[in-house]
Amino acid sequence: MFSPVEHLRIVYDENMIRTRVRELAKEIDSLYGDEPLVIVCVLKGAFLFFSDLVRALTISPELDFVRLASYGEGMKSGGTVSFTKDIELSLEGKHVLIVEDIIDSGRSMDFLLRQLSARGAKSLKIAALIDKKGRREVPVHADFVGFALPAGFIVGYGLDYAERYRALPAVYCLPGVGK
Ligand code: 5GP
Ligand code: MG
Repeated sequence: MFSPVEHLRIVYDENMIRTRVRELAKEIDSLYGDEPLVIVCVLKGAFLFFSDLVRALTISPELDFVRLASYGEGMKSGGTVSFTKDIELSLEGKHVLIVEDIIDSGRSMDFLLRQLSARGAKSLKIAALIDKKGRREVPVHADFVGFALPAGFIVGYGLDYAERYRALPAVYCLPGVGK
């Protein structure tokens, strides 16, 4: 039978992800409590992490979505970052938590932090499923991190390679792809 994953190597299985997402949700619950909070999902890659994370919270934040595009160096995410979809909610006087799939060079989050910091939020923090800290080209700090990954190109649980593999319930390494 055809398996879409036979050439993939598992990195974080469903249990590891579920456990880590619950732990992060507890930290987020206790940090924000009853304060006004907007949680922003960075499309498309963070959609599964975001949906699991917000369902694991006991607080009830407002939710919004943003989509970024980066142009420049092909597989590398360098170059210029821009919005292809901006958020729609007002951030004035509210705490904001950005939920991102991976922080790699840091360029995408650096752009988003700069954009959103001009909108009157009480605080601006980042939750990233995966932090590739060693690959930073601009300094960006993730306040909540699911997993620290030293190297490798990963897919699954929202993450794609040429739009494939996003629906897989676990995270896999795709051998032979740079990064
Ligand atoms: P940055 O702007 O931090 O360099 O790029 C972050 C974005 O690059 C992530 O949000 C993600 O979309 C993409 N990216 C970085 N590393 C990987 C990876 O290993 N796998 C996948 N599928 N995307 C990645
Ligand atoms: Mg992304």
